[in-house]
Amino acid sequence: MTRILVFVEQSDGAAKRASLEALGAARAVSEEITAVLFGPGAGDVAASLGNAGAERAVVLGGSTESPDTLAKALADVVREQGAVAFLASATSTGRDLAPRVAAHLDVTPLSECTGFEADGAGYAVQRPLLAGKLIARLAPKGPVVVATLRRNMFAPFAGSGNAEVVDGPEVESGRITITGVEAKEGGKLDVSEAPIVVSGGRGLKESHNFSLIEELASAFGTAAVGASRAVVDAGWRPHAEQVGQTGKTVSPQLYVAVGISGAIQHLAGMKTSKVIVAINKDAEAPIFKIADYGVVGDAFEILPVLTEKVRQIRAEG
Ligand SMILES: Cc1cc2nc3c(=O)[nH]c(=O)nc-3n(C[C@H](O)[C@H](O)[C@H](O)COP(=O)(O)OP(=O)(O)OC[C@H]3O[C@@H](n4cnc5c(N)ncnc54)[C@H](O)[C@@H]3O)c2cc1C
Repeated sequence: MTRILVFVEQSDGAAKRASLEALGAARAVSEEITAVLFGPGAGDVAASLGNAGAERAVVLGGSTESPDTLAKALADVVREQGAVAFLASATSTGRDLAPRVAAHLDVTPLSECTGFEADGAGYAVQRPLLAGKLIARLAPKGPVVVATLRRNMFAPFAGSGNAEVVDGPEVESGRITITGVEAKEGGKLDVSEAPIVVSGGRGLKESHNFSLIEELASAFGTAAVGASRAVVDAGWRPHAEQVGQTGKTVSPQLYVAVGISGAIQHLAGMKTSKVIVAINKDAEAPIFKIADYGVVGDAFEILPVLTEKVRQIRAEG
């Protein structure tokens, strides 16, 4: 019996952390969880998902990665398993697939959800609206709730035991053929996946001063560099690093905003971060309204000291 089907992304023999969070969100409301996986190595990862809350893992066959046919196969598994919810993480893959799955099931997709809970015989979600000013609770009426879950909002489940592995349908070849995947910059953490994000804004004055942001990020060890739109528009940083309404949404354990004023469009992308630290020379900057810790001062004086301190603390273990 499956109540919730969770799409699990995997590579190099491991499930993505974002997918484990989606499994955790599902497991918090039901024990009848089936994971569904696809791609090279999926069979090796499948059984281990028992540790992450899945009772069963369906491994789709075929080698095409075309989202149109993959979504059709996922919708078929939803029907076969009799699931009443389909969850994916709000990664670029999840955001691509979920609306297609919803279309196959003739229901409305719910994106970037920050809450998932039982609602009678079905499920309800919470999702931010109007750049995070409102949180809507939605309890869809259709037969299946299809939702993507925002990363870093749900804790993975820590269990034990293997999931029962089941062969799923073949994914047929579709309209898109992916001929290869190349990592852009080896080892660089993506801003939406990193547990710590150090972001810089126009207060850094010039693009080369971002070396101060990079040094602090590197001192933390597991941090990614983020940026406000102002500096992306100025060509100082790539769009992939932009945090905000028209950039990426992040929810790291720690978000450090340096020389960023805290415009509503920036806040929309980072206000759900667990701990927010702001460094800004203007004590009235709006970023301080949502910061847990604020340092009023010149970034050029504070960053080298802070970086040194972080290095020292990490070296001391
Ligand atoms: C439709 C729309 C979508 C948008 N989407 C996004 C988005 O996705 N992401 C985003 O970020 N913005 C977005 N924006 C732009 C947003 O409104 C702001 O213009 C932008 O966030 C400002 O960037 P900033 O904070 O770096 O620059 P500023 O607002 O210029 O702030 C610079 C800050 O640096 C401080 N400062 C200056 N010197 C120092 C120093 N030496 N030390 C410390 N602090 C210093 C200043 O006090 C100031 O607070 C969007 C706007 C629109 C209209």
